[in-house]
Amino acid sequence: MRIWVNGGLRDADDARLSVLDHGLTVGDGIFETVRTSEGRPFALTRHLDRLTRSARGLGLPDPDLDEVRRATTAVIDANPVTLGRLRITYTGGLSPLGSDRGTAGPSLVVALDGVSRRPDTTAVITVPWTRNERGALTGLKTTSYAENVVALARARERGASEALFPNTAGRLCEGTGSNVFVVLDGRIHTPPVASGCLAGITRALAVEWTGAEESDLPMEVLAEADEIFLTSTLRDIQAVHRVDDRELAPEPGPVAAKAMRIFDERAGNDLDP
Ligand code: PLP
Repeated sequence: MRIWVNGGLRDADDARLSVLDHGLTVGDGIFETVRTSEGRPFALTRHLDRLTRSARGLGLPDPDLDEVRRATTAVIDANPVTLGRLRITYTGGLSPLGSDRGTAGPSLVVALDGVSRRPDTTAVITVPWTRNERGALTGLKTTSYAENVVALARARERGASEALFPNTAGRLCEGTGSNVFVVLDGRIHTPPVASGCLAGITRALAVEWTGAEESDLPMEVLAEADEIFLTSTLRDIQAVHRVDDRELAPEPGPVAAKAMRIFDERAGNDLDP
């Protein structure tokens, strides 16, 4: 595997970052995961806009988007995969212990993994821990993911692939790495960004393409919804067949199936929607 690290392509075995990189020591970093198909990135402009927003939110210098685009192309060309997920990581950089931030400028790492197509449905759990809708990091895609790692481990213990969080007001928010949609009386709803969820790029496209409404939702909606589905770059749109102990249909319901068809068709035709 060939990885882009700070200005050039390297073999994965030779790729080096300082062990004192602020991204590693304190999680001072941001990232994007971009879907690639047949060697082309999907929705790259939206991802780069969010990368810049996250950098500004964290107080990092704006990433050089020309370099990020060059790195993206170089990594895709060097690692041919049919379906892939490109990871762009941008951190505070080398930072002597005890200092606030990098002394040598930020670090940029771009890598690509091949993936297989997601299953059409999955199981999820809810967790009692909360997302903070008013935190300094709310809405930023930072590398500080430890809470998500813990919640995801809990989900795996229960045979699920995702854990859904309430926010501090007890309202439905998002998953560890996905946004959530519910279908009530034939209408599609998803929590608003003000709930504290990440402004997911798949979420935004799903809202645009299906006419889903942004609604403040109680957690109890998960016990009543006719259908539930998740959106993310890793999953695209994926229906939920079990939430905690509640079994839903084993196959995607009609609304989720239609949303999945629309997404596949539109995403297949427009690489930078
Ligand atoms: N919410 C969180 C916490 C995430 O980490 C992600 C993606 O990684 C999402 C939602 C979905 O966002 P996107 O559709 O841009 O991948």
